[in-house]
Amino acid sequence: MKKFFLLVYGCQMNVAEGESIRKALLSENYCETEDMTKADVIILHTCCVREAAEEKVLGKIGEIKGIKRDNPHLILGITGCMAQKENEKLFKRAPHIDFILGTANLSEILSVISSIENERKHILKIDFEGGDILPVAAGKFSVYIPIMTGCNNFCSYCIVPYVRGRETSRSVEDILSDVKNAVNAGAKEITFLGQNVNSFAPEEGGDFADLLAAADKVEGISRIRFMTSHPKDLSDKLIDALANGEHIAPHLHLPMQHASNRILKAMNRNYTKEHYLNLLDKLRKNVCHISVTTDLIVGFPSETEEDFEELIGFVKIARWDAAYTFIYSKRSGTPAANMENQVEESVKHERLNRLMETQNKISREINESLKDNVEVVLVEGESKTKGVYQGRTAANKLVLFPHKDEKPGDSVKVLIKEPQTWLLKGERV
Ligand code: SF4
Repeated sequence: MKKFFLLVYGCQMNVAEGESIRKALLSENYCETEDMTKADVIILHTCCVREAAEEKVLGKIGEIKGIKRDNPHLILGITGCMAQKENEKLFKRAPHIDFILGTANLSEILSVISSIENERKHILKIDFEGGDILPVAAGKFSVYIPIMTGCNNFCSYCIVPYVRGRETSRSVEDILSDVKNAVNAGAKEITFLGQNVNSFAPEEGGDFADLLAAADKVEGISRIRFMTSHPKDLSDKLIDALANGEHIAPHLHLPMQHASNRILKAMNRNYTKEHYLNLLDKLRKNVCHISVTTDLIVGFPSETEEDFEELIGFVKIARWDAAYTFIYSKRSGTPAANMENQVEESVKHERLNRLMETQNKISREINESLKDNVEVVLVEGESKTKGVYQGRTAANKLVLFPHKDEKPGDSVKVLIKEPQTWLLKGERV
């Protein structure tokens, strides 16, 4: 039996696509190996959001050159965002690559591998629009379902719209069929994925709130999650869907990025801090026990100490459950990379530390308010510590507890005894 080795870099969308690539290869009688030197086909499913991610992929491509010298029949494919962005430049840089497939061409992966097996040649397929999304890999208790791809927003620091192209939504019928298949195969939780799920707009009409409401009615479904949402597109209708859904998890990841209106404008985010605060207010008033998380960037070009202080002040008002904090790093090809007044690295690091310190204190306070609560946890499996299992609450809090007899996909009740900044420790009740 032929073997494949698959390495997935980047976000949940890539993880979902990686699962689909895996499923396609397994259905063609390939088996998976964790040893690159034993593989007949190696696929690197790549990310290009940060330069560091690209450097990692280039390092791996270099490593595979040696393996290919010993095994000239090995087929090496580069797929995903970096393939899309770098295009044929990758062949020039590393001629030992056999094929390059963009994000809209993943459904051609089996035919491309088969062509190369018949005749060794370079194959490059990069479309910027359309393309089928590979069938979702069902069979797990938690399944990612892409509902749209691309982005029309052009935030000034982000490469995604140049790589993934304009927003394209799948049909509601296809998505609901994926949901039903996943649930019939044992899924308890599904996560709808897209760069901006709030602007989901299928050809047949309707919007994301309608999709959530329809998925909520699928028999056997336990939890529905989604990401990522853009604050400018978060409608009252969607907040209502969150509030009234029976199975829709009360968690929203709503990236704020910054709280200075001047910086938000330079980022081309198309909302103000007042708009964001109003959304937070509506969410907390309407959706019972909702947890809200965010992304924040420090050190965006021209960020002054005053701008940064404004962000710190807003963090104290917003009181997010958690924030994923990033240092701005230049991404060539984006407008922000050419902006003047880039912030010094040492200043960025110092600001990041202050931001994390402020947010971590708040996250801890919020988690401490859950002490002695009994939470329903969907079990993911063993944590990094042997004998300790982990899972998530509906509000997406990570919970650790000593293993008894539960298995991945079970729902168990856990008494929270030791809340920490990023997780909750407890015991089964
Ligand atoms: S919304 Fe902005 S940050 Fe998100 S993918 Fe689109 S351009 Fe990038």
